[in-house]
Order: sequence, then structure tokens, then C-alpha cells
Amino acid sequence: MHEIDVVIIGGGAAGVAAASRLAAAALSVLVLEARDRSGGRAWTKHTGGFPLDLGCGWLHSADENEWSAIAKKLGFEIDPTPPPWARPACQIGFSAEDQEDFGTAWNRFYARLEEAAAQAVDRPAAEFLVPNCRWNGLLNAISSYINGVELDQLSVSDHSLYHDTGVNWRIIRGYGALIEAYFPSGIAVELGSPVTLIDHSGKRLRIVTPLGQVSAKTAIITVPPSILACESLRFHPPLYEKLDAADALPLGLANKVFLRVDDAAELPQGTRLFGAIDRAGPAAIIYDRLEGRLSKDTLAENSRAGWSRRVMDHSRVSQSIRSRRCWDMTCENNYTQSQNLPGEEILLRADRTLCESRSVGCACSTR
Ligand SMILES: Cc1cc2nc3c(=O)[nH]c(=O)nc-3n(C[C@H](O)[C@H](O)[C@H](O)COP(=O)(O)OP(=O)(O)OC[C@H]3O[C@@H](n4cnc5c(N)ncnc54)[C@H](O)[C@@H]3O)c2cc1C
Repeated sequence: MHEIDVVIIGGGAAGVAAASRLAAAALSVLVLEARDRSGGRAWTKHTGGFPLDLGCGWLHSADENEWSAIAKKLGFEIDPTPPPWARPACQIGFSAEDQEDFGTAWNRFYARLEEAAAQAVDRPAAEFLVPNCRWNGLLNAISSYINGVELDQLSVSDHSLYHDTGVNWRIIRGYGALIEAYFPSGIAVELGSPVTLIDHSGKRLRIVTPLGQVSAKTAIITVPPSILACESLRFHPPLYEKLDAADALPLGLANKVFLRVDDAAELPQGTRLFGAIDRAGPAAIIYDRLEGRLSKDTLAENSRAGWSRRVMDHSRVSQSIRSRRCWDMTCENNYTQSQNLPGEEILLRADRTLCESRSVGCACSTR
């Protein structure tokens, strides 16, 4: 059995950061990563010569975000252009008047959430929607884009803990590429090694993967809470308090679809398009023209609960935009490399682990 000082379990952003911190220490360090690549939910893939971030793409609170400083140190150029959501959306299907009306509903809804967060009892955000308001569907859809869940699954207290300075930048070569580049060269990593058990009954930890066992003094566990909650990584003896804590931090589901658009030059760079604005499950598209040929579109629409229904909605969005502008859209398969799949199938074939986005807290009364 290998004898190691520190085993880092998971090679996503957190695991890479831990490895980097330990690189200078006089310790033996090993990263065990389940996938065949590091980066986890950060993954930049090159398609048609363009770097596309399949996972995280925005340096949120970029003026305070430590990855901004790391980018500068590693020579990764930052694009400080304010994000498309900081400007009015494209008016196709969403008039300026409707956008203003929606903006007012948005501001009032989030002001109610802020007020509610000060109360002792946590509640699902959906309780603060105005019944029958025409914008509830869109508020829900945009929550699925931001939080990975609709508002009935969003904890008001957890939402209030999210810190946002309002500054959002991007890494031109890709956020995933930056995180990958930060992996320290001197640290050993074993890919394709999902840890299934941590036995902490003895003096040293016994860490088990399908490929063998490692003996470690210490383990740093950076896997998503969902992995602990479903016990695909188990502890012996069981750590019930940690299991409960992981269970109370469910993750939302985020996914992206990239669309290749003919006549891309007809649209302004960095705009948002809304496929539908009047029902639950519509989608907004963030449109970035890359050298006038490939467009990078993010469907603002995800839901753990309504996975297959949502997939239909994605396709309707494409239809609706297509009918307005007669674009010929071909979906780029973002999570699997395989064949050219029709748009509806893409999300079903997506990598479900990668899709987990961020914790949404436990909206207590919904569970
Ligand atoms: C589509 C999408 C868009 C996003 N956009 C943004 C954004 O714009 N800005 C932003 O700040 N955040 C964004 N996020 C969230 C961000 O990507 C994550 O918060 C961040 O990457 C999480 O890093 P992590 O290291 O904590 O977890 P992960 O990246 O999930 O890393 C955990 C690692 O553990 C591995 N693992 C799992 N189980 C085991 C096991 N049993 N044994 C060994 N290894 C295991 C996984 O394979 C993974 O590599 C987005 C997420 C998604 C999915």
C-alpha cells in the first residue's frame, strides 16, 4: 500500500488549490481524481478553434476573486467587459417596455427576499412571488440559470449568503484552462481513481479506490456534497453529522448548450436573447459572437426536477428564435464528444456530475 502524508480527493478547483498550497511543503501529496481529467466542473474545450467553457466561465466578484490574481500571475488575459446581463436584452420577442416591467418585478421580488432573509425561519423563495404575476415563469427560469433550481427549491437564507460585488470578468483562454494550468507540476495525480471508502478506524487512513488502496496521514476531501450525501464515497466508521451536513447542501443543476449560428454578424456582440418570456421553463440565451462565425450561447434554463420537460423547452426556444430570424442552428454537443446529436438529446447525454452547479441550501419547508 502507498504511504502518503496528504491525499487530496477530487481534482476540481478546490483540489487544485489545495495541491498548489501544499506544493511548497515538505510533504508527500497525492491527488486522487475520479475522472480522466482534472478541473471537475471547470472545463475549457476547444471547438472550431475557440475555447468554450463548458463549466464555469465567469469570475464572479472578480475584483475580489482569488482566481483573478492567479490569472494575472500565470499570464492569462482577463476580459473585463461587463456581462450581457448588465445591459438590456435584445428586443426580439421582448420589447423595451416589457423588459422594464420585468425589471421592476425582479427588483421588488429580490427586495422581498432580502427582507425575508433577516427573519429567523428559512423559507423557499417561491413563497415571495406575487400570485399570478405574469413574470413568475421568467423569474423561475432565470433562477434556474443562476441557482440551478427553480424558486421552490431555493432557500432564502442560503441565497442571502451569496456574496456578490457585481463585478464579472472572463478569462479569454477559458476559466477551465486557467484552473488546469494552476495544477502544480510537482504533485502526483492519479486520474480515473474514484475513492469509494475512507477507513479512519486505525492510526492512518485507508483510502480505497477500485485501483487499490493508499495509506495516508491526512485527507483533504473536495468532492461535491452530493457525492458524500449519496454515499458513493463512504466513511468507516460512518460520519453521520457530516452526512447530514452534505445532505443539507444539495446542488442545483447547470448545463450549457452551444449553438453554431449562420449570419452571426446580424446580432450585436454580447447580447441576450429570450426564447419565451411568458411561461415557466423559457430560456434566455447569452450570445457571444466569436470572430463573427461561432456563437456561444448559454441557455438560461435548468432544472433537476423537470429534466426531460426542460429538454423539450430548450428545443422550443431554438425553434422560436429560428422562426424569427431563420437561422440555421446546429447544436454543438457540449458535454460528450460523440456524434452530432439533435438538440433535444444533448442534455440527456450530458455528464450529470459536471452539471451540478452550486449549493442552493435546503429550502426547508419544501423537503
Ligand atoms: C455549467 C456550469 C456553469 C458554471 N458557471 C460558473 C461561473 O460562471 N462562475 C463560477 O464561479 N462558478 C460557476 N459554476 C460553478 C463552478 O464550476 C463550481 O463551483 C466549481 O468548479 C466547483 O469546484 P470544486 O473543486 O469545489 O468541485 P468540482 O469541480 O466538482 O471538483 C470535484 C472533483 O471531485 C471529483 N470526484 C467526485 N467524486 C470523487 C471520488 N469519489 N473520488 C475522487 N474524485 C471524485 C470530480 O470528478 C471533480 O473533479 C458553474 C458550474 C457549472 C456546472
